[in-house]
Amino acid sequence: HAALSIRGLTKVYDNSFHALKGIDLEVPQGDFFALLGPNGAGKSTTLGVVSSLVRKTAGEVSIYGIDVDRDFARARYYLGVVPQEFNFNQFEKVEDIVLTQAGYYGIPRRQAEERAHQLLEDLGLWDKRHDAARMLSGGMKRRLMIARALIHRPKLLILDEPTAGVDIELRRSMWEYMKRINEQEGTTIILTTHYLEEAESLCRNIAIINHGEIVHNTSMRELLGQL
Ligand code: ADP
Ligand code: ADP
Repeated sequence: HAALSIRGLTKVYDNSFHALKGIDLEVPQGDFFALLGPNGAGKSTTLGVVSSLVRKTAGEVSIYGIDVDRDFARARYYLGVVPQEFNFNQFEKVEDIVLTQAGYYGIPRRQAEERAHQLLEDLGLWDKRHDAARMLSGGMKRRLMIARALIHRPKLLILDEPTAGVDIELRRSMWEYMKRINEQEGTTIILTTHYLEEAESLCRNIAIINHGEIVHNTSMRELLGQL
């Protein structure tokens, strides 16, 4: 099964705005995939539907062959999501945010602590583990979201504009980290971005979305050859 398969996905918001007009996407296991497009193109809506935060109007979405509508309870074990907005409790401690998430996946406490330690260390947050999340810089909050999304070792990691508002140095180190988990752990990664440069330096395959339609879907190499 593909890591992610989307067929005929349509989203019409309540105000009758057609945000997605029947898109198809297939992302194979192990891929590093970019969904690139300008603001308002439909990137967040697509990821919202995949992570079951946005109700779709029509179409089919499956994660490793599991239909997200029919069986999200099972699909969520395969999926880690880093949304754009910081949606953790700002008053909770960094380490507790990650451990609380582990609890939602039924990970035994000791194992959760070991994994949290590793993730917080890898993401440069170990020294901050006892701080309330609101004390962190924007870049650190972003990395906290990544640590939390990875605690249950998802096979598919989805990040919505992961480096938006992050300075260039930190952006590079986040790129390195994402590359590493893709290459070493075999985690399939899908990110949205409106920087071609970000997609170019990370991704193997790319889809370009505009006005709710996929206008290109190709390998990065092929796309760059055309420019
Ligand atoms: P971005 O392009 O950074 O994703 P948007 O402005 O498109 O930001 O959307 C941010 C959030 O605001 C969306 O996830 C959606 O929930 C909400 N939103 C955006 N546009 C509208 C709209 N026209 N009506 C209602 N809510 C909206
Ligand atoms: P992107 O992530 O590519 O910036 P979005 O998926 O956030 O795009 O938004 C796609 C379009 O849908 C935008 O025009 C946005 O204004 C609209 N939109 C997003 N959320 C809502 C919402 N809750 N209600 C109405 N329109 C929305």
